[in-house]
Formats: sequence, C-alpha cells, structure tokens
Amino acid sequence: MKAHDGMYIDGEWRPAATADTIAVVNPADEQVIAHVPAGTAEDVDAAVRAARTAFPGWAATPPAERAAHLAALRDVLTARADEIAETVTAELGSPLSFSQKVQVGLPIAVAGSYAELAATYAFEEKVGNSTVYQEPVGVVGAITPWNYPLHQIVAKVAPALAAGCTVVLKPAEDTPLTAQSFAEAVDEAGIPAGVFNLVTGLGPVAGQALASHEGVDLVSFTGSTAVGRQIGATAGAAVKRVALELGGKSANVILPSADLAKAVNVGVANVMSNSGQTCSAWTRMLVHASQYEEAVELAADAAAKYGERIGPVVNAKQQQRVRSYIETGVAEGARLVTGGPEVPREQGYFVSPTVLADVTPEMTVAQEEIFGPVLAILRYEDEEDALRIANGTVYGLAGAVWAGEESEAVAFARRLDTGQVNINGGRFNPLAPFGGYKQSGVGRELGSHGLSEYLQTKSLQF
Ligand code: NAD
Repeated sequence: MKAHDGMYIDGEWRPAATADTIAVVNPADEQVIAHVPAGTAEDVDAAVRAARTAFPGWAATPPAERAAHLAALRDVLTARADEIAETVTAELGSPLSFSQKVQVGLPIAVAGSYAELAATYAFEEKVGNSTVYQEPVGVVGAITPWNYPLHQIVAKVAPALAAGCTVVLKPAEDTPLTAQSFAEAVDEAGIPAGVFNLVTGLGPVAGQALASHEGVDLVSFTGSTAVGRQIGATAGAAVKRVALELGGKSANVILPSADLAKAVNVGVANVMSNSGQTCSAWTRMLVHASQYEEAVELAADAAAKYGERIGPVVNAKQQQRVRSYIETGVAEGARLVTGGPEVPREQGYFVSPTVLADVTPEMTVAQEEIFGPVLAILRYEDEEDALRIANGTVYGLAGAVWAGEESEAVAFARRLDTGQVNINGGRFNPLAPFGGYKQSGVGRELGSHGLSEYLQTKSLQF
C-alpha cells in the first residue's frame, strides 16, 4: 500500500516536523501495511497557518465556483472509488463490497449533495429592514474516527468548503491512508492551496493541538463521548464553536402489530453491518413479551448467517473490548443465544456475531456502547414500558420503530429522545440532518442543516 511520508499542507506534501511514524495494520491478517507520519503541534501549526492564509480568498470565492470545485472533487472520488474502497478494506477490514457501496458510495453522494447545495443555498436573505448574510465561520479543525473513514471526512469537509471555510483534518490513527487518498483527490480536483490540509497523528498529540489551536474557529469532532467531552470543554473555554458527533445506543422498537420477521432481520443486518462499528446502529432490540421468544430465535438465525461474511473489528484493542462486553453481559445474567466471546479465527481481529437475550435495561450491555457485532434483545410489557426503556440511556443518536400502520410507528417515534428514527425500515437519507440528542452530541451533519453549522449570520439594517 502506497503511503505518503509527509503532511498535505498548503497544496503540497511536506515533510513532517519529526521522523516519528504510526504503523497502519490490516485487521483481517494483522500485517503492517504502511507507516504514516505522527504529526506534532508544529505540523498542526503549519497546517492552521496555511488554512488561515487561504481563508479570505476562499470565503470570497462565489458560491457557484465553490460548488464547481466540490463537483470536481465528487468526480475525482468517483473515478478513484475502487482504489479508495480497497484502501478502506485494507486498513479498516470491512468487506470490499461494503466498502464500495457504503464506505465510498455514501461520501460520493454527500460530496455531490454539497456541490448542489453550495450552488443553490440562500447565503443572503431579507428580513424586514435587514439583509442577513450567511458567512463562513473561518478555519475548521476536523477530527474524525475510523469507522466510516471517508464518510466522516466528507461529512465535515464538504459542507465546510461549501460554506467558504478552510479546513485542517486530523483523521483517526487506524485509518490514515483513506485520509491521504482524500487529500490526493482534493489536490487532483484543483481545490486551491491551503483550503484543505491534512495532518496525520495521534489523538492526544495532533488532535489535542488542533482542538486547542487559537487559529481554529470551529472544532468539528466525531468520536467517543469521553474525548468529545474534553474537546467541548477546551472549545468552551476558548469561546470557540464546536460540533460533536458522539456515541449511541439506539433502540429498535418492534411494536406488536409489526411484521416481526422483517423487523428482526433488518434489525440484525443493521447491527452486523460494518461489524457493529456504526454509532447509529440499533444495538438494543425491544420486543413485546408475547413475541419475545420468537424474536430471539429469528435473531439468532439471522445473526448466525453473518458468521463467515462479517469483517474483523478495527484493531486488537477493540476486539478485546467487544469480547469483554460479551463476557460482562453473560456475567450480569444475559442469555447467550449465538456467538460469544471466543475468538472465531486464528488470525485477524474477528468477533463472532453475537446475540444476547434476557437483557434488562440496567445491564452494562444495555447502557454502554459496545461498537462491535453484538445485539441485545430486551423485553417490554406495554408501550409505555417500551418508551421508558428506549429513552433510558444517556444517548439519543438514532433508532427504529416498526408497526403495522405507519401512523402508529410515527406516533411512537415522536416520543423518542433521539435525532433520527427509521420507520418500518425507511432507508438512510444523506440529505436529512444527522446528529444526537442528549450525550450523543451537539450539532447536526449532512444536508442544509450540516451546511449551516459552518455559517454565521451578519445582519445589515437599512
Ligand atoms: P476516539 O474518540 O478515540 O477518536 C476519535 C478521533 O479523536 C480520532 O481521530 C482520535 O485520534 C481523536 N482523539 C483522540 N483523543 C483525542 C484528544 N485528546 N484530543 C483530540 N483528539 C483526540 O474514538 P474512536 O475510537 O476513534 O471511535 C470510536 C468512537 O467514536 C465510538 O465510541 C463511536 O460511538 C464514536 N463515533 C460516533 C459517531 C457519530 O457520528 N456520532 C461516528 C463514528 C464514531
């Protein structure tokens, strides 16, 4: 795998400040596939300076021109889709077909949506005797996780660029090669020097330096709640804008009138895809007592089918973490119906698709984000009970409701404390705002709501 040994700053690949590197490991076979530079505060400073210098020019670029640059970026990503999908598979481990369709397909759609939005968005409006301008916030520090490495980057960089902001990206240490591919695409698309900059490195070093840099006006972070809390505090102390996309523990609520088999099968597929490493995954399935055993059986069958198809989790630490959550679940009284903590293959960071039944709301596996292929099935007695359980975590990122009538599902969904709900299997919409209630985050990504995160208003009175 070809890796750059420098940082992408001010339109070129520059040597890093130190010779330290990070090894990139293929989680399917545990082999080191590349090394990337481990950036320091010095690299971050150079990147922020480049972004600051480029900001006035990019902010003044007419939106139609910014739109054309984003369309060019979308086209380069499309032309390089196979190569990027292979990179995602090599460093994250997701099956190649999933990398092509979702890991790369989705961000191409998102990049396209911002090319369109930049061209059509009302950056100026009349309100009574005022003209209100939507102006870019400034320099954005983007910090992204590894689970959807290209999507998480595009979901921040595309709206930021559409708004007229410039960006410094610090991607996750497990998936820096996808970020380097993205930087190559930015370069090939002819986006002006300094508008997008990349610094690879460790979170507590390069990430921390970026989040606390005084030349950064907005920090957009996706990752764990623990780190998000810290970044929010740093940004708050500096009176800096911050957007946080954090964890989830979403509920898949199957009401008694629903098509049970469909709801269970789609629910299991949702949890197992990307080896359970999806922050919005419906990791708690809520089933009425009268249908409980039938649902458990259906889920066990559906999960077992993923045994051979599922990819590894991202690294050894994550594998260990997921296995220990399964053990904790069993120790706290959950019934293991398929899968388990044993390592299923000799090589690679694999975890067996696992279903835990008889999970009760206070158990660790019903409260904490596992981020692995583990489904917890909970029993409810009536609708109020289901609502209480569904809303009974610190998170509120996503969820699903199934019912015989759409109106019944909608009525229930309106009472959920969560940012997104799929009704009877409604498909993901890359234009709909994505983000959390409660400790799942602050702010929204995607579509016009995602764009407005990178804008601030200026009102002129006449
Ligand atoms: P993480 O929080 O450890 O890391 C995320 C990013 O933050 C990485 O780039 C990392 O290098 C950086 N980072 C780490 N410590 C930092 C610090 N002190 N200062 C600045 N940056 C720092 O999370 P992860 O392990 O990479 O990802 C898994 C977690 O992310 C899961 O808990 C998952 O729920 C969450 N996640 C949430 C969403 C969402 O949209 N809500 C999406 C994906 C992942």
